[in-house]
Amino acid sequence: MICRKCSNPATVNIRKEYCYCNECFISMINHKFRACIGKNKTLSANEKVLICLSGDGSSTVLLDLIYNAISLNNHKKLRVVPYFLHIIEAVSDNENISNTIIEQCKNYGFTVTVVNIKEYYKNILCNTGELENQNSNNSKSILSDVPSSIGQDVVAKMKQNIFVKVSKTLDCKSIFTAETTTTLATKLLSNIAIGRGSQIENDIGFADKRDSNVKILRPLKDISNEDIQCYLKVKDIKPAKCMHNKLNETSLQSVIKNFVMDLQENYPATVSTICKTADKIGSVTNNFNKKKCKVCQSILDNNDSKLTAVDATMFSRQVSSIPSRISIHNEDKQNIEGENNLMFPFIYESLCYCCSRNVSELGDPLLHILV
Ligand SMILES: [Zn+2]
Ligand SMILES: [Zn+2]
Repeated sequence: MICRKCSNPATVNIRKEYCYCNECFISMINHKFRACIGKNKTLSANEKVLICLSGDGSSTVLLDLIYNAISLNNHKKLRVVPYFLHIIEAVSDNENISNTIIEQCKNYGFTVTVVNIKEYYKNILCNTGELENQNSNNSKSILSDVPSSIGQDVVAKMKQNIFVKVSKTLDCKSIFTAETTTTLATKLLSNIAIGRGSQIENDIGFADKRDSNVKILRPLKDISNEDIQCYLKVKDIKPAKCMHNKLNETSLQSVIKNFVMDLQENYPATVSTICKTADKIGSVTNNFNKKKCKVCQSILDNNDSKLTAVDATMFSRQVSSIPSRISIHNEDKQNIEGENNLMFPFIYESLCYCCSRNVSELGDPLLHILV
């Protein structure tokens, strides 16, 4: 085996096809990272950027790539001022993870802001009086580690919410997250499965521009989990959190994650094809003066007069709960879209389908903490 760049003996074999020596592999990954930021031209010189570190392999590599890129002394130098953020999630060994991240950042000469997701939202609930008013079952279920499909979706939105709020207090106009080709492929398929298909452009593309002041950017989107594992191995870096384990949970997202991991193992080219498909899905409508979902800021485009799957679900609910004859016409459709709609509260008024379903499952406190 010979390195495809320099013809020295190869040490790394990517996708069972491309061979590199250690040096060429590391410089290839650094180049992919810089090229992804460069070609999207979204950063201005010396901009403050908030970098979100979860502690898994990809975020550990992101930390190393940032350090390398800002330490350069040539025209390839990344001219940003990095700020680092770690969110403590509701998992068992969260203390170890955050200590390791703090230690890692210290070794690079960086400091990191740490936010505990439970404490953060408990404070908001206390301030709004929700914690006492509600029979705190609802608030508890939002803040506990729920492995359900809805729980995972809500926690992802909560984290995104904290990213944006912290970046505003630090005056950062951009956020970097460490999603790889592999995680984005999983997210794409999950989005479609849980009813966020219309939000793919912002959830999977390079830039999420739903917040008018802060952009979320994904500079690792052309790097796969296999690349990440090799990078960690070659540079002998240990991530704070293991990313390799298959999940034994039963949520839709975990099932899809396991499916994508199998794909990557056996048909490695397929995963990047999934993401390239997402790049081609853009919004065709113009986004000005459109109503937006209060929780996730996606466009509520419901001018379509045709009946949708949501209407069908609500209709079945009505006919099975009210024993009278009901026919569904467009006038009836207006009736079921109001706030009194118990199955999908505020749907198309101020919430998208998925956020409305989350609120109906987890209760109103969700609105207080996410809006
Ligand atoms: Zn080489
Ligand atoms: Zn929404």
